[in-house]
Parts: sequence; C-alpha cells; structure tokens
Amino acid sequence: MTDRALSPNPLPLAGEGDVVPLRGDAHYDIAIVGGGPVGAALAAALAGSEYRVAVLEARDVLAAQDPRAIALSQGARLILERIGAWPALAEQATPISTIHVSQRGSFGRAELLASEMGVPALGYVTRYGDLYAALAAQLQQSGATVSTGAQVTAIRSTSGYGAVEFHRGGVEQLLTADLVVLADGGKSLPGRQQVKDYGQTAILCTVTTAQPHGSRAYERFTPEGPMALLPLGEAYALVWTVPNAQAEAVLGLDDAAFLARLHGRFGDRQGRFLTASKRAAFPLRMITSEPVQGPRILRIGNAAQTLHPVAGQGFNLGLRDAWQLGQLIWEADKPALGSAEFCTRYRDRRGPDVSGGMRMTDLMVELFSNDNFVLRHGRGVGLALMDALPPLKKAFARKMMFGAQAW
Ligand SMILES: Cc1cc2nc3c(=O)[nH]c(=O)nc-3n(C[C@H](O)[C@H](O)[C@H](O)COP(=O)(O)OP(=O)(O)OC[C@H]3O[C@@H](n4cnc5c(N)ncnc54)[C@H](O)[C@@H]3O)c2cc1C
Repeated sequence: MTDRALSPNPLPLAGEGDVVPLRGDAHYDIAIVGGGPVGAALAAALAGSEYRVAVLEARDVLAAQDPRAIALSQGARLILERIGAWPALAEQATPISTIHVSQRGSFGRAELLASEMGVPALGYVTRYGDLYAALAAQLQQSGATVSTGAQVTAIRSTSGYGAVEFHRGGVEQLLTADLVVLADGGKSLPGRQQVKDYGQTAILCTVTTAQPHGSRAYERFTPEGPMALLPLGEAYALVWTVPNAQAEAVLGLDDAAFLARLHGRFGDRQGRFLTASKRAAFPLRMITSEPVQGPRILRIGNAAQTLHPVAGQGFNLGLRDAWQLGQLIWEADKPALGSAEFCTRYRDRRGPDVSGGMRMTDLMVELFSNDNFVLRHGRGVGLALMDALPPLKKAFARKMMFGAQAW
C-alpha cells in the first residue's frame, strides 16, 4: 500500500554545458510542455506580457475525450475568472450547494452548506473535456505560439538556457528557452519522483438516481476506499474507489449488477440508482516531484504532484501553481527569468500549499480506507464534532475551497 520508490524512468536530463541558445524563431522566453488545463492556464495568465511563450502539446487538437468529472473549488473559480475561462465553463458547470460526508457502517456524518459558508457554491462540477476546451480557447487567445502534435521527448538545461527536444510531423525538432515549464501531467517525462501506490482503482461513470440531486454532493468513506457522487447536469458523476484486486470484477458487472452493488455501498440517500453509463478505470497513486527539476526547469500541475481524487484537489492545486508562477513571472525582471533565484522563489512560494494539500489528501485516504475499530469510532466522533462545531466546519470548508493554508 505504501510503497515509496524512486521512479525507474528518469527524465532524460542531459549533462550541463551543451546547450547553445537557438536564434530567432527557435528561442523563446518561456516554453510550456503540455497544453492541458494547467499548461493552458499558465499561458493564459501570461497573456499581454512582454514574454515570447511557446506551448508544445502532444495531442493533434486541443480537445480531450476523458470520462473524468472535475470538481472546481471556489478558489479555482476566482482564478478562472481572472484568466477569462470562467464564462464558458459557467454555462456547463453544475454548482455544489451541499456536501454530505459520511462513513459506511458507523455513526458520524457532517454536512457542509454553501449558505453557512457565505459563498454562492462550495464548488462546481465540470467535465474534464469542457475544462480543457475552455482553457484551450484562452490559450489560443493568449498570444503564445502553440504547436499541437508536438511530442516532447527530452529536456536538457544549463545555467543559461533550457532545450526542449520534440517530435512533430515526423521530424525531430529543438527549441530553447530561458525557462522551461513542464505541465505534461507527469506521465511522459517522469523525472525525479516519489511514487506511493494506494493499491486502489477509481471507477468512473455517470449515474442517475430516483431523487433529483438538488446540487448535493456526497463523499462516502468505506473500508474499501472512498466514493464520491458529484452533481453533473441532471445526473451524478460517480468516483468509486475499490481495491485493485476488486476492480476487474466491478468493471465486469452488467448495469443491473453494478447498480445493485453501488446501492449496497452507498445506501438509500438518493433513492434507487436507475442508470449507469459506460465505466472507466484509473489506477490511483500519489506522485511527488521536485518542482525545480534542474537549472531553468520547473514542474507544475500533475507534472509536479499527482493526488488521489478523494478530495478533488488535483486540478485546483495545479491551477494555483499556474497562477502563482504567472504572478512571479509578471513580477520578475526579464534577465532573472528562469535563474536559480527565480526557481527557488517559485518553490518557496508554492511549497506550503502543495505539501499541505498533499498531506491533507493522503491523510483522508489513509485514515478512512480501513475498518479498524478504533479509527472507525474516532472518525465518527470527528465527523460529528465537525458537524456540531461551526468554526471547525468553516475551517475545513475553507481548506477545501482555497487550499490547505486557508483558515
Ligand atoms: C479519477 C480522477 C478524478 C479527478 N477529480 C478531480 C477533481 O474533482 N478536482 C480536481 O481538482 N482534480 C481532479 N483530478 C485531478 C485532475 O484531473 C488533474 O489534476 C488535472 O487534469 C491536471 O492537469 P494537468 O494539465 O497538469 O495535466 P493533464 O490533464 O494530464 O494534461 C497534460 C497535457 O500535457 C500533454 N502532454 C503529455 N505529455 C506530453 C509531451 N511529452 N509532450 C507534449 N505534450 C504532452 C497531454 O496531452 C495533456 O494535454 C482527478 C483525477 C482523476 C484521475
């Protein structure tokens, strides 16, 4: 369960001293590897700046078919508003007015209400594809040079420049930049990372229930792993975590058997489960990377940290990476861009939020994914206390909405 190991597949960072800046069109101030939600958000945050920005995206088009639903926090909404992506999302996103937290087979529950927190919604649920499209639209208006179909294969750097090797249209190409930002999601250029395998798989689909959702989300902890129901349109997006050993069996169930098993895990709160869409599976791991990966190379978003989806924090944290890096770039003198001091400043600014978010998420998984008698009762007391004590509830809700540092 808690297997920590260095990734066996290091980022191909070449030795120092062999990068000569390219001239003219092939040299940029900033190169962003990955035009996904976080990379696009960074480019959008730099719109109107003096910097020449290149974005290299492996997909042929800036669009994604992905079964994930993403819960956006109130804090994320504020950033998305500032970079202009919110109006397109607001049309599709479903607000969350209530979050009901409970554990199966024991007492203790807590209910967080947007009205009690003084916010219009505790969060908003959107499809990953809609989020991708909204940010891609801002990326395209940002003034950055965007190359799709560009698969980055290696990064090299010296104290002077970073070099990005990529494959596009059957041709190996190279560009150099003062600062290279990896926003590739962390899978294709793994680098120096620590991996913790939870031994769990998230099974995703949308389900409909007998009772309308009324903008209510559920977080339910079971000994096999947490499950979440997030209101999305008229339906619920389901994130159901199961131990890896059970994943194949659950995925193999037909609709009727799947819905019956889900009902057994979740209970009656929404009445019967009526329909389920096609299921998809994601293995769950926590991956921690050094944000400063070498001279002039920074990681942001999932390329820097990949979290268990239990608290819906991954993108929200990555968006804050992009926003705060954007702010640092705006504040920096041009010659300082990508320098060791600049990279250290970025790491120091993001460190507490990132490590707090990762600790909070990891603790929730470890504390709740078991059937230990003492822990079960402790959790019940904790949930009941949180429900009864408004300041405690407010502090927890603020951390979910604005990050682990918020009070
Ligand atoms: C089941 C599940 C549920 C989740 N739910 C939530 C939630 O409710 N709330 C939340 O905040 N987060 C959630 N997350 C996390 C969220 O999906 C991620 O944090 C977010 O997608 C990270 O965005 P990113 O841009 O860093 O990476 P990605 O979304 O992975 O995008 C990376 C981009 O880089 C491109 N790329 C990759 N390699 C290369 C390369 N070599 N060269 C060029 N381009 C490349 C890819 O094509 C892609 O466009 C969830 C995750 C999972 C698995």
